[in-house]
Formats: sequence, C-alpha cells, structure tokens
Amino acid sequence: MFDRTKAKVIRIGDRCIGGDYPIAIQSMCNTKTEDVKATVAQILALEAAGCEIIRVAVPTMEAAEAITEIKKQIHIPLVADIHFDYRLAIAAIEHGVDKIRINPGNIGSVDRVKAVVDKAKAYHVPIRVGVNSGSLEKDLIAKYGGHVTAEGIVESALDKVHLIEDLGYDQMVISIKSSDVMMCVKAHELIAAKTDYPLHVGITESGTLISGNIKSAVGLGIMLNEGVGHTIRVSLTGDPLEEIKSAKLILKTLGLRKGGIEVVSCPTCGRTRIDLIGLANKVETMVQDIPLDIKVAVMGCVVNGPGEAKEADIGIAGGKGEGLLIRKGEVVKKVPESELLDALREELLHWNEIHA
Ligand code: SF4
Repeated sequence: MFDRTKAKVIRIGDRCIGGDYPIAIQSMCNTKTEDVKATVAQILALEAAGCEIIRVAVPTMEAAEAITEIKKQIHIPLVADIHFDYRLAIAAIEHGVDKIRINPGNIGSVDRVKAVVDKAKAYHVPIRVGVNSGSLEKDLIAKYGGHVTAEGIVESALDKVHLIEDLGYDQMVISIKSSDVMMCVKAHELIAAKTDYPLHVGITESGTLISGNIKSAVGLGIMLNEGVGHTIRVSLTGDPLEEIKSAKLILKTLGLRKGGIEVVSCPTCGRTRIDLIGLANKVETMVQDIPLDIKVAVMGCVVNGPGEAKEADIGIAGGKGEGLLIRKGEVVKKVPESELLDALREELLHWNEIHA
C-alpha cells in the first residue's frame, strides 16, 4: 500500500493534484485543436459531465496559437500534448496553456529540452513527463532481457524526470503507459515507491467501450486501491464523455469520490415482466443531472425486487405492465409501466422536500 497524500502538490492552472487534493478526472479532446469552436464545444460538454482537466493535441503551430482563444472560453485547466517539436511546447506555453505533456525522449537534444523547461519555469507551467511502453529506448529493452518490462519503463521515466530536475525544474507529473494491464500496474507500483511526484494513471490503448472499460476498471482499480495515482484518464476508443462517466464510476466504486446518484439494477430473469433493461438505461441517463447523493434500485419483479431494493434509498420493482415505487423498503405507490420513469423522476426532484 502507498500513501497517496505524500505526493508533492503540483498546481495546474487553478487546480492542484497531489497531497490531500482529490483525484482529478481528465480526458482528451478528439476534435482538431485548430478548430476552436468544435474544441470549446467539446470541452464545455466534458466540463458539464465532470471533467476536471482537459488535454488537447498540439501537432501544429496553428493548434498552439488556438490555445489563447480556447482558454478564454473554458473553465478547467488545459493541457497541451506535444510530440517531437520543442517549438510547439514553447508556443503552447506562451499561448497560456496550464500544463504541457511531453516525452523528453522524443523532443530532441538536451538543449531543446532545456528551452522547453526554461519556458515552463518562466510561466510556472508544470510538465507531465509521459513515457509509453511502445517507445521504450532500445538500451532499456536490452538491459531488461530483450523485451519491454515494467522495470524498463520506470527507468526510462525516471531518467527523464532526473534530466528535468538537473535543468533546475521540479514541477512535474509523471505518466507511464502500457496497454498490458498487469505490466502497467507493476510499473506504477515500482515508480510509486521511487518518487513523490504525482502520478497520472491510466491504461493506454485499452480499446472500445467494453474492453476499454473493463481493462481500465481492473488496472485503475488495483492501482487506486493501493494508493497509487493522483489524476486519472480512462482511455476509450469512443466519445470522451464516456471516459468521464467511467472515471467517475471507478472512483465512486472505490469509495474515492462521493456524490451523485448510484443506480443499481437487477440482471433480469424469467420473472421479469417489464422492459427492465430499457428502463434501467433510461433511469441511468435521467439521474445524471439530479444533484443527490443516494442509491436508486431498478428491480425486475415484485417477488424479490422490494426486498432487494431495501438497501437503496428509492427503488422500482416491476410487475406485469406496472411497477411499485419503493422508498427505503416501503411501497409508496403502484404505477403503470409507462409512468414509472416519470414517477421516479418526480420523487427524486422532490427528494429534499420529502426528507427535510
Ligand atoms: Fe429476477 Fe426479480 Fe431478481 Fe430481477 S429482482 S433478477 S426479476 S428475481
């Protein structure tokens, strides 16, 4: 187990990570950063969903220049993701970005890295040092048996961190990525034991919705539960909004974040006589904008439903073309199936009056 709170506090715009600060949820835009309108629209949607730090790709000078305008229209810290060209990192900083993500290994000579570090230092912009198993140096592959290993990834990351420290800067966040979930977990455990910089954790290239969610939940679940990680990104091949939903659920499941309505639902069986799968999906969407910290149960039948819903604050138990609304295990009323969702919404919207 690791003590997450021992990590150095790093300020990213108006937000901090590390120390006692809560684990921050991140995502990355999949719009063209040069398209300010589309990028801002996506960031605002992500903010509304609960994204707390957002990263954009900066592959061109036009993208770096767009940062100034994007920053004016959003409310969360903005991170620039830079590869290869140190001038883009410098331009992103000059245009007001709150953090840069670079792999010093692909930025070029030490002089070029120094130019970026000097600029970051002058603007008080932290650097996320990111290394990826896919770009591990050949000598580190050879050193650890001829293949990519957690030890090699960690050594590569720490080499970059020490390089930046030697250049006189210590405002850093570290990220190490591997699509091999258990190698990624091992690498994070190793690096957490060796550094007190905050760790940005995630499983890279984890896949589409189902495989990405499962790999992320397993990998992040192990790491976060061990006390590793200060900011997370669930990487999915899909809408970044899904990444935020998944990240929030992972944190809530681990007890690392409170708030919001938790929906539990039964798996359905031969007793189910209503469209419970459709109803559970609608309930999950419906509760997203209701600011309550309670548990809602959506159960398929009146045989086991009321009993199983007892643990919840409020629940639905389906019958044949109708359902029961149950509050703390007590039946409140019987409602036709077509009105169940509205009845539940009404109950939730007046929850605070009912329970005042
Ligand atoms: Fe089946 Fe009822 Fe249990 Fe749902 S709550 S799984 S319908 S017995």
